[in-house]
Amino acid sequence: MPLMTPQQYVESLRARRIRAYVAGERVSNVVDHPSVAPHVNTAAKTYELAHRPEHQDVMLATSHLTGERIHRYTHIFQGPDDLIKKLQMLRLLGQATGTCFQRCVGLDALNAVYAASYEVDQQHGTDYHERFRRYLEWVQRQDLMLAGAMTDPKGHRSRRPSEQEDPDAFVRIVDRRSDGVVIRGAKLHNTGGINSHEILVMPGTALRPNEPQYALACAVPVDAEGVVFIFGRQANDTRKLENGCDIGNSRFGIVGGEAMIVFDDVFVPTERVFMDGETAHCGTLVAYFSTWHRANYGACKGGNADVLIGATAKMTRLLGTEGNSIVRDKLVEMVHMNESTYASAIGSAAMGYRLPCGSYMVDPLMANATKQNITRHIYLIARLAHDLAGGFLATMPDARALDNPEIAGLVKKYHAANPVFDVMERIRFGRYIENATSVTTLVEAMHGAGSPQTQRIPMIGQARLDEKIAMAERVLYGDDDEPSLPLPRPWRPAPSEKPAADE
Ligand code: SF4
Repeated sequence: MPLMTPQQYVESLRARRIRAYVAGERVSNVVDHPSVAPHVNTAAKTYELAHRPEHQDVMLATSHLTGERIHRYTHIFQGPDDLIKKLQMLRLLGQATGTCFQRCVGLDALNAVYAASYEVDQQHGTDYHERFRRYLEWVQRQDLMLAGAMTDPKGHRSRRPSEQEDPDAFVRIVDRRSDGVVIRGAKLHNTGGINSHEILVMPGTALRPNEPQYALACAVPVDAEGVVFIFGRQANDTRKLENGCDIGNSRFGIVGGEAMIVFDDVFVPTERVFMDGETAHCGTLVAYFSTWHRANYGACKGGNADVLIGATAKMTRLLGTEGNSIVRDKLVEMVHMNESTYASAIGSAAMGYRLPCGSYMVDPLMANATKQNITRHIYLIARLAHDLAGGFLATMPDARALDNPEIAGLVKKYHAANPVFDVMERIRFGRYIENATSVTTLVEAMHGAGSPQTQRIPMIGQARLDEKIAMAERVLYGDDDEPSLPLPRPWRPAPSEKPAADE
């Protein structure tokens, strides 16, 4: 199967008949809609780089199902090398686009359902895994983009799915037919869904035995009857519709073009259902997905931060401060934080372990630590960008001031800094930094792949404090003739240890 070109990807999106609303209005052509087009461009970049010989080592993989060369975005991780190359791919794409390129949610969803369906079958004698392998092979051969859909609206946050006033607060099965099921509910914050081909629906939380209607994993085409996309609004989102120096990252947009996906009684045929009622496995599936995705953040945000650090360094040239040692030290601090999180992501991949289905999981403690640091480092990197770019970021005039001959000269005269550069360039980079450090970007770094506390909850178990206490006692009271300690890595879940799912 040839890999899709970026042009084929865009054309394939046009063939869909999706029901989508942008800025409150139904849109028939989402691909060319100015609010969506930058996100389409970004996803198209993932297809484009797969055709560049210099990037194929990280962009392509060999399918364990067919032996064919496929896009890494449809691959099941076969070892630590795959996990590392995935992160290298993410950093590369982050550098190429300066934003979220969306496809990792679908990739991690493919891997999570692959692993969980195997474990369900082992325990219950079902055939979900075989069904899923057939589906996966089709996805790989078609080179499709998938939207992983996990986060439910959740309703009252202190109540379980079965206790909600509105039972649709979590996606559920509402009807059964001889050839499939009917599902209802919504998934929120969905990255790249509006420009995907398929939605891979997963449970959003660990479930109890009395909640089987919510224990659902299935695949739905984006244009299936009853699927509705409601596109989200972002900080400064109309800027990219403008011309001139105010447009920010108008080619690729800010974060992933998130949308709410509503499933308004959508029929799903049996061959596309990969979990139906096995509540005991939902926590594992959620943990698998979120652990892989948390490691990603050290790489994709690393690539994005590379662009932001570059824009900030450029701003110091525009201002004439680049040679100042304090300025240079602050740039080093930005680089230091960025490389630290990337290093921990790579570490989590290098120390990955084999799951029962044969695929590989990143080291969970390192992955959670990576994402935990992202919730801080991205804010701190943005803080330093604001510091070095100056108050101009908040007060700079807009491009229209430069179009008005009455005041254009005044703007240029009084915003001139290093005379080597034009004021327009200073505004252009200032707007980019404003864009790349906006509330949309920062909140995505905070809550994407789970809010900060969802990393800390599993970390307390993964930290194995009893072992650390034993280490301390050994150092204080032990004698040097005792057998030496085993190597602490790679991490493995203890036999009795269940992966901790997000609540
Ligand atoms: Fe990929 Fe990062 Fe976007 Fe998640 S936030 S989809 S890991 S680019």
